[in-house]
Amino acid sequence: MNFNPLSTVHIQDLKAMVAADRFSTGASVLKLHAKDQSHHRGCLPEAVIWPTDRLEVVEILKYANDNRLPVVGWGSGSSLEGNPIPVKNGLVLDFSQMNCILDVREEDFQVDVQPGVIYQDLNEHLKYTGLFFPPDPGARATVGGMIANNASGTRTVYYGSTKDYVLKLTVVLASGEVLEMGRRVSKTSSGYDLPHLFVGSEGTLGVVVEATLRLVGLPEEFSAAVVTFPSVEAAGKAVSAIVRYGLNPAALELLDSACIELFNREKALGLDLSPTLFLEFHGPSIAYLSEIMGMAEEICRENGSLAFSPGLGRDERNRLFEARHELGEMVVRAHTDCRIQVLDVAVPITAYPDIISMARQEADAAGIQGYAFSHAGDGNLHLCLAGRKDETGDWERIDRISQRMVSKAISLGGTATGEHGVGIGKRKYMLAEHGSSLEWMQRIKSLFDPNGILNPGKIFP
Ligand SMILES: Cc1cc2nc3c(=O)[nH]c(=O)nc-3n(C[C@H](O)[C@H](O)[C@H](O)COP(=O)(O)OP(=O)(O)OC[C@H]3O[C@@H](n4cnc5c(N)ncnc54)[C@H](O)[C@@H]3O)c2cc1C
Repeated sequence: MNFNPLSTVHIQDLKAMVAADRFSTGASVLKLHAKDQSHHRGCLPEAVIWPTDRLEVVEILKYANDNRLPVVGWGSGSSLEGNPIPVKNGLVLDFSQMNCILDVREEDFQVDVQPGVIYQDLNEHLKYTGLFFPPDPGARATVGGMIANNASGTRTVYYGSTKDYVLKLTVVLASGEVLEMGRRVSKTSSGYDLPHLFVGSEGTLGVVVEATLRLVGLPEEFSAAVVTFPSVEAAGKAVSAIVRYGLNPAALELLDSACIELFNREKALGLDLSPTLFLEFHGPSIAYLSEIMGMAEEICRENGSLAFSPGLGRDERNRLFEARHELGEMVVRAHTDCRIQVLDVAVPITAYPDIISMARQEADAAGIQGYAFSHAGDGNLHLCLAGRKDETGDWERIDRISQRMVSKAISLGGTATGEHGVGIGKRKYMLAEHGSSLEWMQRIKSLFDPNGILNPGKIFP
């Protein structure tokens, strides 16, 4: 695709579409929108615009399409695969000022939001209704960014990922046309499921300007446990068994000893330095949870657990999950001379012990400091790899580890990305993962965005 550079005429025209303080070509603003939380490098946008309503988005997209200007949506920039970084310059649409909670329909368990709402703020707002929006990527992500990446989190094993909560979307297409898709119902068999085509499309098909989300009730009771194992393989087998026995954990997170060491150092958690499972169950009563916890203990023991500490109180459990959510930042702080790559793959649950044991072996054999942690109940593994900034040798080895891990995941029937999306980093694996269906994805892209102006250079190799 051929795009035009942003001219002074374009700048004048676009400036006229929004208030003066919502258009910028300032160097620091451009730099801030050229980097997400990944190690990937893109290029500077030529202008950043903060729309506040859908009519502005319509006008900007129509103009950008007519003038062949690339447009990339921006939520909080917390992506881990370069998803919102421009690679063809152009415009960034930053949705942080389009962040209203439009309507809460408690009785229907639904909320209408603009795309720039931060999910933690949404849940804070909903607190007194007894409802919440469960996907929890941890970073301060926007609903628009979560929809575009189909984000998940620690509770996905029980509650599902973002796609499971999207009922209805309003999207502006590249042409400026507004498309409303879906209904305000929790089920429908009516026609093609267009809203879910846009979930996970990383802003390459259209720009989300409003979403109706499903909500669920806050759990009555919870119960949590910390379980240690002699090896990640043993822990991996316990994970597989817990899922197979249908115990339905609300969180099932596995951390290797390197992660536990960081937790103890930064949060003084005093945990044993062994591969560790964090288990959480949600349910209607303490009696129900005690029975489930007893079964989980038995399964862990059969798989060689060293210690099982159940009955964590709310404070203790919150401290553990707070530490878990901060893990990425802890790794960065522990390696100030390094850049960090966060690998994200997912495999069928039976293949999970294989992939987690491979992760540890690969990092150790390459002499790269690695931290393996995972939403284990979903077969979703992350491996944080720390490479010294100016050591090309480190980065060659990290690339090799990533390639081997992703190839292995795909060969096991898994995916190159469980939740972080394709962005820049996973484009090269798309053909291996999708085969001939990749071409159909490309046709869909051309149908919605014939000039390829929306987030160009993403998803497709
Ligand atoms: C410490 C840390 C932990 C994380 N843990 C998790 C995790 O557990 N699970 C997980 O899934 N992710 C995780 N992430 C990744 C990240 O938080 C998620 O991918 C999140 O969904 C990104 O949201 P965002 O608002 O930052 O979007 P951005 O990064 O700004 O953008 C993401 C994508 O959405 C597009 N986009 C943004 N707004 C719109 C819009 N209105 N319409 C169309 N497209 C749009 C962008 O172009 C881009 O392609 C983590 C990140 C960090 C830094």
